[in-house]
Amino acid sequence: MSVPIATPSATPVASPVPPQNTAVNTASVVQQASATAAAAAVNKKNTPAALLAQLEDSIVAGNIPQIVLSMITYATNVGSSDIHIEPLEGVVRIRFRVDGVLRVLIEYPTNIHPAIVSRVKIMSGMKIDEQRIPQDGRMQTVTQDGRNLDLRVSTLPTVNGEKIVMRIQDKSKTIPDLPDLGIEGENLKKMERFTKLPNGVILVSGPTGSGKTNTLYSTLNRLNQVGVNIMTFEDPVEYQMDGLNQSQVKPEIDYSFAYGLRTALRQDPDIIMVGEIRDQETIEIGIRAALTGHLVLSTIHTNSAVSSLTRILDMGVKPFLITASIRGIIAQRLVRKICSDCKETYQPEAAILQDIKTELSKVPQGQLDPELLTNITLTKGKGCAKCGDTGTAGRIGIFEIMEMDRELSALLIKGASEEELVETAQKNGMISLKQDGYIKALHGIIPIEEVYRVAQ
Ligand SMILES: [Zn+2]
Repeated sequence: MSVPIATPSATPVASPVPPQNTAVNTASVVQQASATAAAAAVNKKNTPAALLAQLEDSIVAGNIPQIVLSMITYATNVGSSDIHIEPLEGVVRIRFRVDGVLRVLIEYPTNIHPAIVSRVKIMSGMKIDEQRIPQDGRMQTVTQDGRNLDLRVSTLPTVNGEKIVMRIQDKSKTIPDLPDLGIEGENLKKMERFTKLPNGVILVSGPTGSGKTNTLYSTLNRLNQVGVNIMTFEDPVEYQMDGLNQSQVKPEIDYSFAYGLRTALRQDPDIIMVGEIRDQETIEIGIRAALTGHLVLSTIHTNSAVSSLTRILDMGVKPFLITASIRGIIAQRLVRKICSDCKETYQPEAAILQDIKTELSKVPQGQLDPELLTNITLTKGKGCAKCGDTGTAGRIGIFEIMEMDRELSALLIKGASEEELVETAQKNGMISLKQDGYIKALHGIIPIEEVYRVAQ
């Protein structure tokens, strides 16, 4: 939406120096003060529509602190993960990432952009006079509806001026439990068995942005008790949990995941979480930790549960070490949920119907309600004001959870092919990503197209 701008006046608004606060050095003081003052001054209604109207008003008025506060408040209100402030030719565009997709919210005139950049830089502890190179910073702030946020901020010089991206971490957000992520039925039982293990390696696999970290946090939340020492090594620490010892690794000074893991073993741990397994060294120390009585959780960048095994073999790890330590592998994808306000059912065409039936006929006994396959209807969102005409709102995971058993271990030692491993895993109770997706589609939770998009 474009805002009709009143005369872009020659007020101090366009000045590259941020208003008022230049004398204050502590970024947090600036934000606290402005957040409180603004919260008192603004409309008490914090609905997305009211916040958007307020943002428009503050752009027209050239009220820089209010523009920044309003856009951050709006972003958290609509569940956005990132804010992009992008100078284009002749206009600056603000986009918000919601459910993984960028949406344009509003534009503002280029003359107030330098003041907005300066404001954000001060709040995030960056140098305001450095405009030629990218900068990184962090800010802690409070939205006008009282949420405590941690924002990772990054600037980038572009041909039209400095672009800003803010990654939002809502500290007031609670960690969802495993069923809220989409782990249900037999999958949930497997996860519960994993969390009761005294030792072993549990891996979560999937591409970037598939929700792996959320699954780890939800799992750690279940494991988080006063009697156990949980240590994490993350890059970055995305969510701070009470009771955990969370450490941010810094590869630039050689504080790597592998280094962290080695250190952890001298810190009397029970459970260790390592952000990602990328190399042989990290997985081997992880395996050693598991074999000496620790539960190790991590992620790996692969497409399926079984291909994670192949990937670890390719890293040069001996099969017997894998079968001795790895207890479970979760593969996942994030998919959009159907908007509850505009959902409607429809009859799928014959080919789709047949595909669903064929695929779900392979689901292991007892894991599928046969009722689901009689009178199949699918659901979609036709689009409404609430979902911005997308037909979808929010996201959920689809999962494939493999529990290592004797049969799989024997096959792996024997050097079996990926196909054989998949076949055996499915025979022994693993629901594939596609099957889990189809089941969620039949339950009217996700559009079937989302399954096609993420799972082949
Ligand atoms: Zn809708």
